[in-house]
Amino acid sequence: YAAKTGHGGGPVFATGLDDHARARLTMLEELRTGLDRGELVLHYQPKVTVDAAARVVGVEALVRWQHPERGLIYPDAFLYTAESADLMGRITAVVLDLACRQSRRWHDEGLPVSVAVNLSVSDLRDPGFPEQVGALLRRHGLPPEALELEVTESVLMTDADNALQTLGRLRDMGPRLAVDDYGTGYSSLSYLQVLPVDDLKLDRAFVSRCGVDPRSAAIVHSTVQLAHSLGMQIIAEGVEDADIFERLRGYGCDLAQGYGIARPQDATTTTAWLLDREIAYRAAV
Ligand code: C2E
Ligand code: MG
Ligand code: MG
Ligand code: MG
Repeated sequence: YAAKTGHGGGPVFATGLDDHARARLTMLEELRTGLDRGELVLHYQPKVTVDAAARVVGVEALVRWQHPERGLIYPDAFLYTAESADLMGRITAVVLDLACRQSRRWHDEGLPVSVAVNLSVSDLRDPGFPEQVGALLRRHGLPPEALELEVTESVLMTDADNALQTLGRLRDMGPRLAVDDYGTGYSSLSYLQVLPVDDLKLDRAFVSRCGVDPRSAAIVHSTVQLAHSLGMQIIAEGVEDADIFERLRGYGCDLAQGYGIARPQDATTTTAWLLDREIAYRAAV
């Protein structure tokens, strides 16, 4: 540790390290207990069509940890630690189950929105994972299109050959597959050639700047064309205002997601939002 950080490893530094290690262990212990107690909850962020109707086609499930003392903890604050301690398999299983249960409920309420779940490196390494997904869909009585699985470029590139194989088997189970945060990792165009995915989610780093930066605009526009010529649908992430939405419309982008459309919200708030939208849509057509 000391060598890695270039510090001398004196007593002060050692104390700092101990604190860090202790905090990590405490978090893991609390996370294990929290998993047993069902403290993970999902918030949902809608994906809408980029046209005048802005119709909702699905939602993305984003995990939060409802900690009994610390309140709502966001994924960036605990997923990395969870991954390093081999807890991601359990977390994904919980998230998938919650997401499918909610999707089932929405289908029963006449809101057939699909739910997207984010996968991690360990999910793609687990040879039993695709079969688990198949079993889950059967158990909840959901059509495979009700589920979408998102994999970031960096997850794909961590173990590319394995990832490619698992994606192929996941695809046989029927859910849609998406590359998440596209453009920020290191995947090369040759991977786009062979990845069995339906959707490209263009990272918000490009989308949020396309109104002010001509280069970002050029990247967004040409990525839309690239996705379409590969037979993929394109989803813009991080749409924060109406101006960006209109630009995306001009580029022919298929779907959009972002704070400007809706922030991630708990299931109850999302259901109300979906119902509002659906009623407005039905009134308009
Ligand atoms: P992601 O999958 O790319 O999800 C989008 C993130 O961007 C979410 O943050 C969302 O709240 C945020 N976001 C959405 N629209 C906007 C916008 O217009 N502006 C800005 N500034 N941000 C926006 P969140 O929920 O904190 O999640 C962060 C990341 O954690 C996710 O990125 C995903 O990679 C990971 N994650 C979340 N839930 C799960 C999960 O259940 N499993 C796994 N493996 N990873 C998850
Ligand atoms: Mg995602
Ligand atoms: Mg993303
Ligand atoms: Mg992200």
